[in-house]
Amino acid sequence: MNERSDNTNSLRIGETTITLVEGDITTQDVDAIVNAANSGLIGGGGVDGAIHRAAGPTLKDACQIIVEREGRLPAGQAVMTDGGRLSARVIHTVGPRYRGRPMDRDTLASCYRNCLCLARDASLRRVAFPSISTGAYRYPIEEAAPIAMKTVAHFLGQPTEHQLAEVRFVLFDHRTFLAYQQAMERIRP
Ligand code: ADP
Repeated sequence: MNERSDNTNSLRIGETTITLVEGDITTQDVDAIVNAANSGLIGGGGVDGAIHRAAGPTLKDACQIIVEREGRLPAGQAVMTDGGRLSARVIHTVGPRYRGRPMDRDTLASCYRNCLCLARDASLRRVAFPSISTGAYRYPIEEAAPIAMKTVAHFLGQPTEHQLAEVRFVLFDHRTFLAYQQAMERIRP
C-alpha cells in the first residue's frame, strides 16, 4: 500500500521508504550500494570507478574471483561482494547499453529487481542505487528514471517475509535528481 509522505523526496511503500538524494553513492551510510558495473567487473569510469577507488584493491580481487568462477556477468544480472574499505557491501549489476530496443527496458528493470532480490535474500535493511545506464551507457534519463522507480515500487509492493527498510536513489547531478523526483511524483498515489 502506498502512503503519502510529507517529504517530496520520499515515498513509503508498505514497510519500505524510497528516498531520493543528490550526492555520491560511495559516502552513503547503508548496508549495500549498487554498482553500475560492466560485464567483466573490471572497474571502469563513472560510478564504477568511484566505487572501486573508495573500496580499494580488494574489491577488484573479489570481482575477479567471481568472473573466473562464473564468467562475465550478463546485462540485467547482479552479484554481491564485500565492499573492501567501504562499510557497505557492493551489489554489482550490468545495465543495458542503450540502443532504443524494447528489450533495453526489460534489461534495465531486471537490474533493479535482481539487486533488490540479493539485498532482500541477505536480509539487508538499506540499499542505495545510482542511476544505472544513464551515464556511459547512454540510457536517456527521462526514460530510465520512470523504469527504475516503477520497478522498485512494484518489487516493494510484493508480499515477502523480509522487507527492506529503505531503498535510496543517490543521484549524482541535479538533472538526474529532478528526473527521479518527477518519476516519484508520477507514481505517488
Ligand atoms: P553506466 O555505464 O551504467 O551508464 P555510469 O557510471 O557511466 O554508468 O553512469 C551512471 C550514473 O552514475 C550517471 O548518472 C553518473 O552521473 C552517476 N555517477 C557517477 N559517479 C557517481 C557517484 N560517485 N555516485 C553516484 N552516482 C554517480
